[in-house]
Amino acid sequence: MSYKNFPMVPRVIFGRGSFNQLNEVLALKRLSINAPFIFLIDDVFKGNPWITSRISLSYDDRIIFVSAKEEPKTSQVDSLVEDIILKSKERPSGIIGIGGGTLLDLAKAVSILITNDGEAADYQGWDLVKNPAIYHVGIPTISGTGAEVSRTTVLTGPEKKLGINSDFTPFDQVILDSELTKDVPKEQWFYTGMDCYIHCIESLTGTYLNTFSETYGDMALDLCKEIFLENNLKDIEAQEKLMMASWHGGMSIVYSQVGVAHAMSYGLSYLLGTKHGIGNCIVFDHLEEFYPEGVKLFKQMKAKHNINLPQGICANLTDTEFNIMIDVALGLEPLWENALGKNWKKTITKEKLKSLYQKM
Ligand code: NAD
Ligand code: ZN
Repeated sequence: MSYKNFPMVPRVIFGRGSFNQLNEVLALKRLSINAPFIFLIDDVFKGNPWITSRISLSYDDRIIFVSAKEEPKTSQVDSLVEDIILKSKERPSGIIGIGGGTLLDLAKAVSILITNDGEAADYQGWDLVKNPAIYHVGIPTISGTGAEVSRTTVLTGPEKKLGINSDFTPFDQVILDSELTKDVPKEQWFYTGMDCYIHCIESLTGTYLNTFSETYGDMALDLCKEIFLENNLKDIEAQEKLMMASWHGGMSIVYSQVGVAHAMSYGLSYLLGTKHGIGNCIVFDHLEEFYPEGVKLFKQMKAKHNINLPQGICANLTDTEFNIMIDVALGLEPLWENALGKNWKKTITKEKLKSLYQKM
Protein backbone atom coordinates (compact mmCIF):
# COMPACT_ATOMS: atom_id res chain seq x y z
CA MET A 1 0.00 0.00 0.00
CA SER A 2 1.39 3.33 -0.96
CA TYR A 3 -0.29 6.45 0.39
CA LYS A 4 -0.77 9.57 -1.65
CA ASN A 5 1.50 12.54 -1.04
CA PHE A 6 -0.65 15.62 -1.56
CA PRO A 7 0.48 19.24 -1.53
CA MET A 8 -1.40 21.84 0.50
CA VAL A 9 -1.66 25.62 0.18
CA PRO A 10 1.53 26.74 1.95
CA ARG A 11 0.42 30.26 2.94
CA VAL A 12 -2.93 31.63 3.97
CA ILE A 13 -4.14 34.89 5.48
CA PHE A 14 -7.51 34.79 7.22
CA GLY A 15 -9.36 37.84 8.47
CA ARG A 16 -11.97 40.50 7.83
CA GLY A 17 -10.29 43.20 5.75
CA SER A 18 -7.17 41.13 5.05
CA PHE A 19 -7.53 41.90 1.33
CA ASN A 20 -5.63 45.11 2.22
CA GLN A 21 -2.50 43.02 2.78
CA LEU A 22 -2.37 41.83 -0.82
CA ASN A 23 0.01 44.57 -1.97
CA GLU A 24 2.59 43.86 0.70
CA VAL A 25 2.41 40.11 0.02
CA LEU A 26 2.99 40.65 -3.69
CA ALA A 27 5.81 43.19 -3.25
CA LEU A 28 8.03 40.39 -1.95
CA LYS A 29 7.27 38.21 -4.97
CA ARG A 30 8.01 40.60 -7.82
CA LEU A 31 10.68 39.06 -10.02
CA SER A 32 11.62 42.21 -11.95
CA ILE A 33 10.10 45.44 -13.21
CA ASN A 34 9.45 43.68 -16.52
CA ALA A 35 7.65 40.76 -14.90
CA PRO A 36 4.11 41.95 -14.22
CA PHE A 37 1.46 40.72 -11.85
CA ILE A 38 -1.71 39.80 -13.72
CA PHE A 39 -4.97 40.16 -11.80
CA LEU A 40 -7.86 38.08 -13.12
CA ILE A 41 -10.96 39.61 -11.53
CA ASP A 42 -14.64 38.66 -11.80
CA ASP A 43 -16.23 41.39 -13.91
CA VAL A 44 -18.99 41.73 -11.32
CA PHE A 45 -16.39 43.97 -9.60
CA LYS A 46 -15.73 46.11 -12.66
CA GLY A 47 -16.11 49.76 -11.72
CA ASN A 48 -16.27 48.79 -8.04
CA PRO A 49 -13.58 50.93 -6.39
CA TRP A 50 -13.98 49.04 -3.15
CA ILE A 51 -11.97 46.22 -4.77
CA THR A 52 -9.92 47.87 -7.52
CA SER A 53 -8.74 50.93 -5.57
CA ARG A 54 -7.11 48.62 -3.05
CA ILE A 55 -4.90 46.99 -5.68
CA SER A 56 -1.80 49.02 -6.39
CA LEU A 57 -0.64 48.42 -9.95
CA SER A 58 3.06 49.05 -10.69
CA TYR A 59 5.14 48.85 -13.86
CA ASP A 60 3.32 46.61 -16.37
CA ASP A 61 0.85 45.04 -13.92
CA ARG A 62 -2.56 44.43 -15.45
CA ILE A 63 -6.11 43.80 -14.40
CA ILE A 64 -8.12 41.57 -16.72
CA PHE A 65 -11.84 41.43 -15.94
CA VAL A 66 -13.42 38.09 -16.77
CA SER A 67 -17.10 37.18 -16.79
CA ALA A 68 -18.20 34.32 -14.55
CA LYS A 69 -21.47 33.88 -16.43
CA GLU A 70 -20.07 30.70 -17.96
CA GLU A 71 -17.76 28.16 -16.43
CA PRO A 72 -14.11 28.20 -17.52
CA LYS A 73 -13.21 26.63 -20.84
CA THR A 74 -9.87 25.28 -22.01
CA SER A 75 -10.01 27.62 -25.04
CA GLN A 76 -10.53 30.57 -22.70
CA VAL A 77 -7.44 29.58 -20.73
CA ASP A 78 -5.44 29.28 -23.95
CA SER A 79 -6.39 32.74 -25.17
CA LEU A 80 -5.71 34.34 -21.79
CA VAL A 81 -2.29 32.71 -21.71
CA GLU A 82 -1.51 33.86 -25.23
CA ASP A 83 -2.57 37.40 -24.44
CA ILE A 84 -0.52 37.48 -21.24
CA ILE A 85 2.62 36.10 -22.86
CA LEU A 86 2.35 38.43 -25.87
CA LYS A 87 1.87 41.55 -23.77
CA SER A 88 4.45 40.82 -21.03
CA LYS A 89 8.13 41.70 -21.51
CA GLU A 90 9.10 38.79 -19.28
CA ARG A 91 7.34 35.81 -17.75
CA PRO A 92 4.89 37.32 -15.23
CA SER A 93 5.71 37.46 -11.53
CA GLY A 94 2.35 35.95 -10.71
CA ILE A 95 -1.34 35.46 -11.41
CA ILE A 96 -3.89 36.63 -8.86
CA GLY A 97 -7.43 35.25 -9.16
CA ILE A 98 -10.18 37.26 -7.45
CA GLY A 99 -13.72 35.87 -7.59
CA GLY A 100 -15.60 32.62 -7.19
CA GLY A 101 -14.65 29.13 -8.32
CA THR A 102 -14.71 30.27 -11.94
CA LEU A 103 -12.02 32.92 -11.47
CA LEU A 104 -10.00 30.80 -9.06
CA ASP A 105 -9.91 27.93 -11.53
CA LEU A 106 -8.96 30.24 -14.38
CA ALA A 107 -6.09 31.69 -12.35
CA LYS A 108 -4.79 28.23 -11.49
CA ALA A 109 -5.02 26.99 -15.07
CA VAL A 110 -3.39 30.11 -16.55
CA SER A 111 -0.50 29.89 -14.10
CA ILE A 112 0.09 26.28 -15.18
CA LEU A 113 -0.16 26.92 -18.92
CA ILE A 114 2.37 29.74 -18.77
CA THR A 115 5.12 27.22 -17.98
CA ASN A 116 3.77 24.17 -19.80
CA ASP A 117 3.68 23.84 -23.58
CA GLY A 118 0.60 23.02 -25.60
CA GLU A 119 -3.02 23.64 -24.74
CA ALA A 120 -5.02 23.46 -21.55
CA ALA A 121 -6.96 20.46 -22.89
CA ASP A 122 -3.70 18.45 -23.00
CA TYR A 123 -3.55 18.55 -19.20
CA GLN A 124 -7.15 17.62 -18.29
CA GLY A 125 -6.81 14.53 -16.19
CA TRP A 126 -4.68 13.35 -13.31
CA ASP A 127 -1.01 14.33 -12.94
CA LEU A 128 -0.25 15.29 -16.53
CA VAL A 129 1.43 18.62 -15.72
CA LYS A 130 5.23 18.51 -16.01
CA ASN A 131 6.54 21.90 -14.93
CA PRO A 132 5.71 23.91 -11.81
CA ALA A 133 3.23 26.74 -12.41
CA ILE A 134 4.18 30.37 -11.88
CA TYR A 135 3.35 31.95 -8.52
CA HIS A 136 -0.42 32.13 -8.10
CA VAL A 137 -2.69 33.65 -5.49
CA GLY A 138 -6.36 32.89 -4.86
CA ILE A 139 -8.79 35.33 -3.26
CA PRO A 140 -12.34 33.94 -3.03
CA THR A 141 -15.28 36.36 -3.11
CA ILE A 142 -17.96 33.69 -2.63
CA SER A 143 -17.71 30.58 -0.46
CA GLY A 144 -18.37 26.92 -1.07
CA THR A 145 -16.46 25.36 -3.95
CA GLY A 146 -13.23 24.73 -2.06
CA ALA A 147 -11.40 25.76 -5.25
CA GLU A 148 -9.23 27.97 -3.02
CA VAL A 149 -7.70 24.89 -1.44
CA SER A 150 -8.09 22.05 -3.95
CA ARG A 151 -5.49 20.51 -6.27
CA THR A 152 -7.72 20.73 -9.33
CA THR A 153 -8.96 23.34 -11.76
CA VAL A 154 -12.16 22.24 -13.46
CA LEU A 155 -12.34 23.07 -17.17
CA THR A 156 -14.75 22.35 -19.98
CA GLY A 157 -12.80 21.27 -23.04
CA PRO A 158 -13.67 20.24 -26.56
CA GLU A 159 -14.14 16.62 -25.47
CA LYS A 160 -14.76 16.60 -21.76
CA LYS A 161 -15.34 18.48 -18.57
CA LEU A 162 -12.47 17.47 -16.37
CA GLY A 163 -10.01 19.09 -14.01
CA ILE A 164 -6.31 19.62 -14.33
CA ASN A 165 -5.49 17.65 -11.19
CA SER A 166 -1.86 18.08 -10.29
CA ASP A 167 0.61 18.86 -7.53
CA PHE A 168 1.26 22.21 -9.24
CA THR A 169 -2.38 23.28 -9.25
CA PRO A 170 -2.87 24.49 -5.63
CA PHE A 171 -2.35 28.17 -4.90
CA ASP A 172 0.93 29.40 -3.40
CA GLN A 173 -0.99 31.94 -1.36
CA VAL A 174 -4.64 32.34 -0.40
CA ILE A 175 -6.28 35.35 1.20
CA LEU A 176 -9.53 34.60 3.02
CA ASP A 177 -11.36 37.87 3.63
CA SER A 178 -15.02 37.11 4.31
CA GLU A 179 -15.92 40.78 3.81
CA LEU A 180 -15.45 40.21 0.08
CA THR A 181 -18.46 37.88 0.14
CA LYS A 182 -20.89 40.33 1.73
CA ASP A 183 -22.76 41.25 -1.49
CA VAL A 184 -23.29 37.78 -2.95
CA PRO A 185 -26.96 37.44 -4.06
CA LYS A 186 -28.99 35.06 -1.89
CA GLU A 187 -29.70 32.37 -4.49
CA GLN A 188 -26.05 32.19 -5.52
CA TRP A 189 -25.02 32.12 -1.86
CA PHE A 190 -27.23 29.07 -1.43
CA TYR A 191 -26.10 27.22 -4.58
CA THR A 192 -22.39 27.70 -3.99
CA GLY A 193 -22.83 27.02 -0.27
CA MET A 194 -24.60 23.76 -1.13
CA ASP A 195 -21.60 22.78 -3.25
CA CYS A 196 -19.72 22.68 0.05
CA TYR A 197 -22.49 20.76 1.79
CA ILE A 198 -22.59 18.22 -1.04
CA HIS A 199 -18.79 17.85 -0.93
CA CYS A 200 -19.16 16.89 2.73
CA ILE A 201 -21.93 14.35 2.13
CA GLU A 202 -20.18 12.74 -0.83
CA SER A 203 -16.86 12.58 0.95
CA LEU A 204 -18.23 11.34 4.29
CA THR A 205 -20.35 8.56 2.76
CA GLY A 206 -17.76 7.50 0.19
CA THR A 207 -15.70 4.33 0.11
CA TYR A 208 -12.49 6.37 -0.16
CA LEU A 209 -13.09 7.89 3.26
CA ASN A 210 -10.22 7.92 5.73
CA THR A 211 -9.67 9.74 9.01
CA PHE A 212 -7.92 12.66 7.33
CA SER A 213 -10.93 13.34 5.09
CA GLU A 214 -13.46 12.46 7.73
CA THR A 215 -12.26 14.95 10.30
CA TYR A 216 -12.25 17.83 7.81
CA GLY A 217 -15.60 16.69 6.41
CA ASP A 218 -17.17 16.53 9.88
CA MET A 219 -16.06 20.06 10.67
CA ALA A 220 -17.38 21.42 7.40
CA LEU A 221 -20.68 19.56 7.71
CA ASP A 222 -21.28 20.90 11.23
CA LEU A 223 -20.60 24.42 9.99
CA CYS A 224 -23.03 23.96 7.07
CA LYS A 225 -25.78 22.77 9.41
CA GLU A 226 -25.22 25.78 11.64
CA ILE A 227 -25.18 28.23 8.73
CA PHE A 228 -28.10 26.86 6.75
CA LEU A 229 -30.39 25.50 9.47
CA GLU A 230 -29.98 27.66 12.56
CA ASN A 231 -31.32 31.14 13.18
CA ASN A 232 -28.89 32.72 15.55
CA LEU A 233 -25.90 33.54 13.34
CA LYS A 234 -24.96 37.16 12.68
CA ASP A 235 -24.07 38.01 9.07
CA ILE A 236 -20.34 38.38 9.66
CA GLU A 237 -20.16 35.17 11.65
CA ALA A 238 -22.10 33.30 8.95
CA GLN A 239 -19.79 34.64 6.22
CA GLU A 240 -16.67 33.68 8.14
CA LYS A 241 -18.03 30.24 8.97
CA LEU A 242 -19.04 29.51 5.38
CA MET A 243 -15.57 30.54 4.25
CA MET A 244 -14.03 28.00 6.61
CA ALA A 245 -16.62 25.34 5.73
CA SER A 246 -15.60 25.74 2.10
CA TRP A 247 -11.95 25.32 3.06
CA HIS A 248 -12.51 22.24 5.23
CA GLY A 249 -14.91 20.70 2.70
CA GLY A 250 -12.23 21.18 0.05
CA MET A 251 -9.60 19.64 2.33
CA SER A 252 -11.88 16.69 2.90
CA ILE A 253 -12.13 15.85 -0.80
CA VAL A 254 -8.44 16.40 -1.48
CA TYR A 255 -7.81 13.11 0.27
CA SER A 256 -11.04 11.37 -0.83
CA GLN A 257 -13.35 12.13 -3.74
CA VAL A 258 -16.78 13.49 -4.59
CA GLY A 259 -19.61 11.24 -5.79
CA VAL A 260 -22.87 10.77 -7.67
CA ALA A 261 -24.11 14.38 -7.59
CA HIS A 262 -20.87 15.70 -9.00
CA ALA A 263 -20.62 13.07 -11.72
CA MET A 264 -24.16 13.76 -12.90
CA SER A 265 -23.86 17.52 -12.55
CA TYR A 266 -20.79 17.48 -14.80
CA GLY A 267 -23.02 15.89 -17.45
CA LEU A 268 -25.62 18.66 -17.12
CA SER A 269 -22.94 21.29 -17.27
CA TYR A 270 -21.28 19.79 -20.34
CA LEU A 271 -24.48 19.51 -22.35
CA LEU A 272 -26.62 22.37 -21.05
CA GLY A 273 -24.06 24.74 -19.54
CA THR A 274 -25.75 24.39 -16.13
CA LYS A 275 -23.43 25.96 -13.58
CA HIS A 276 -21.79 23.85 -10.91
CA GLY A 277 -23.59 25.08 -7.80
CA ILE A 278 -27.12 25.05 -9.14
CA GLY A 279 -26.44 21.88 -11.17
CA ASN A 280 -25.35 20.04 -8.03
CA CYS A 281 -28.52 21.18 -6.27
CA ILE A 282 -30.77 20.06 -9.17
CA VAL A 283 -29.15 16.62 -9.16
CA PHE A 284 -28.78 16.16 -5.41
CA ASP A 285 -32.51 16.86 -4.91
CA HIS A 286 -33.17 13.49 -6.65
CA LEU A 287 -30.50 11.33 -5.02
CA GLU A 288 -32.39 10.01 -1.96
CA GLU A 289 -31.51 6.43 -2.86
CA PHE A 290 -27.78 7.17 -2.65
CA TYR A 291 -27.70 9.78 0.11
CA PRO A 292 -30.92 9.42 2.16
CA GLU A 293 -29.88 11.47 5.20
CA GLY A 294 -28.01 14.08 3.17
CA VAL A 295 -30.90 14.69 0.79
CA LYS A 296 -33.41 14.94 3.65
CA LEU A 297 -31.38 17.72 5.26
CA PHE A 298 -30.84 19.38 1.89
CA LYS A 299 -34.60 19.63 1.40
CA GLN A 300 -34.93 21.24 4.81
CA MET A 301 -32.29 23.81 3.91
CA LYS A 302 -33.97 24.50 0.60
CA ALA A 303 -37.31 25.07 2.28
CA LYS A 304 -35.86 27.26 5.02
CA HIS A 305 -34.35 29.62 2.46
CA ASN A 306 -37.28 29.53 0.00
CA ILE A 307 -35.20 28.20 -2.84
CA ASN A 308 -37.11 27.04 -5.92
CA LEU A 309 -34.92 24.92 -8.14
CA PRO A 310 -35.57 24.80 -11.89
CA GLN A 311 -37.66 21.78 -12.90
CA GLY A 312 -37.82 19.82 -16.13
CA ILE A 313 -34.49 20.92 -17.54
CA CYS A 314 -34.10 17.51 -19.21
CA ALA A 315 -37.72 17.29 -20.36
CA ASN A 316 -37.14 17.92 -24.06
CA LEU A 317 -33.80 16.25 -24.63
CA THR A 318 -33.20 13.82 -27.48
CA ASP A 319 -31.65 10.38 -27.00
CA THR A 320 -28.40 11.67 -28.47
CA GLU A 321 -28.34 14.46 -25.91
CA PHE A 322 -29.08 12.08 -23.05
CA ASN A 323 -26.22 9.90 -24.25
CA ILE A 324 -23.79 12.81 -24.26
CA MET A 325 -24.65 13.63 -20.66
CA ILE A 326 -24.54 10.01 -19.61
CA ASP A 327 -21.14 9.45 -21.21
CA VAL A 328 -19.66 12.49 -19.47
CA ALA A 329 -21.04 11.32 -16.14
CA LEU A 330 -19.92 7.69 -16.58
CA GLY A 331 -16.45 8.84 -17.61
CA LEU A 332 -15.80 10.08 -14.08
CA GLU A 333 -14.92 6.64 -12.78
CA PRO A 334 -13.21 7.62 -9.51
CA LEU A 335 -16.36 9.47 -8.44
CA TRP A 336 -18.57 6.43 -8.96
CA GLU A 337 -16.07 4.12 -7.35
CA ASN A 338 -15.90 6.41 -4.34
CA ALA A 339 -19.69 6.58 -4.10
CA LEU A 340 -20.53 2.92 -4.65
CA GLY A 341 -17.41 0.82 -4.44
CA LYS A 342 -15.41 -1.17 -6.96
CA ASN A 343 -18.45 -2.92 -8.42
CA TRP A 344 -20.34 0.27 -9.25
CA LYS A 345 -20.75 -0.74 -12.90
CA LYS A 346 -23.18 -3.47 -11.84
CA THR A 347 -25.79 -0.93 -10.71
CA ILE A 348 -24.94 2.22 -12.63
CA THR A 349 -25.98 1.56 -16.21
CA LYS A 350 -26.85 3.97 -19.00
CA GLU A 351 -30.52 3.19 -18.46
CA LYS A 352 -30.25 3.93 -14.77
CA LEU A 353 -28.69 7.32 -15.42
CA LYS A 354 -31.24 8.16 -18.06
CA SER A 355 -34.07 7.44 -15.66
CA LEU A 356 -32.45 9.73 -13.08
CA TYR A 357 -31.83 12.55 -15.55
CA GLN A 358 -35.43 12.28 -16.75
CA LYS A 359 -36.62 13.36 -13.29
CA MET A 360 -34.60 16.58 -13.41
P1 NAD B 1 -18.78 31.50 -9.81
O1 NAD B 1 -17.37 31.88 -9.68
O2 NAD B 1 -19.22 30.87 -11.08
O3 NAD B 1 -19.68 32.77 -9.54
C1 NAD B 1 -21.08 32.65 -9.44
C2 NAD B 1 -21.75 34.00 -9.56
O4 NAD B 1 -21.50 34.76 -8.37
C3 NAD B 1 -21.19 34.83 -10.72
O5 NAD B 1 -22.25 35.50 -11.34
C4 NAD B 1 -20.26 35.81 -10.02
O6 NAD B 1 -20.10 36.99 -10.78
C5 NAD B 1 -20.99 36.05 -8.73
N1 NAD B 1 -20.16 36.53 -7.61
C6 NAD B 1 -18.99 36.01 -7.14
N2 NAD B 1 -18.56 36.71 -6.07
C7 NAD B 1 -19.47 37.70 -5.87
C8 NAD B 1 -19.59 38.75 -4.90
N3 NAD B 1 -18.71 38.89 -3.91
N4 NAD B 1 -20.64 39.58 -5.00
C9 NAD B 1 -21.58 39.43 -5.98
N5 NAD B 1 -21.53 38.44 -6.91
C10 NAD B 1 -20.48 37.59 -6.84
O7 NAD B 1 -19.30 30.58 -8.61
P2 NAD B 1 -18.75 29.39 -7.77
O8 NAD B 1 -19.92 28.60 -7.42
O9 NAD B 1 -17.86 29.88 -6.69
O10 NAD B 1 -17.81 28.58 -8.77
C11 NAD B 1 -18.27 27.64 -9.69
C12 NAD B 1 -17.09 27.13 -10.46
O11 NAD B 1 -16.17 26.52 -9.57
C13 NAD B 1 -17.42 26.10 -11.52
O12 NAD B 1 -16.76 26.44 -12.70
C14 NAD B 1 -16.89 24.81 -10.94
O13 NAD B 1 -16.48 23.90 -11.93
C15 NAD B 1 -15.74 25.29 -10.12
N6 NAD B 1 -15.36 24.39 -9.03
C16 NAD B 1 -14.06 24.13 -8.85
C17 NAD B 1 -13.63 23.33 -7.83
C18 NAD B 1 -12.17 23.04 -7.65
O14 NAD B 1 -11.81 22.32 -6.76
N7 NAD B 1 -11.31 23.61 -8.45
C19 NAD B 1 -14.54 22.78 -6.94
C20 NAD B 1 -15.88 23.05 -7.14
C21 NAD B 1 -16.29 23.88 -8.17
ZN1 ZN C 1 -18.29 20.83 -6.19
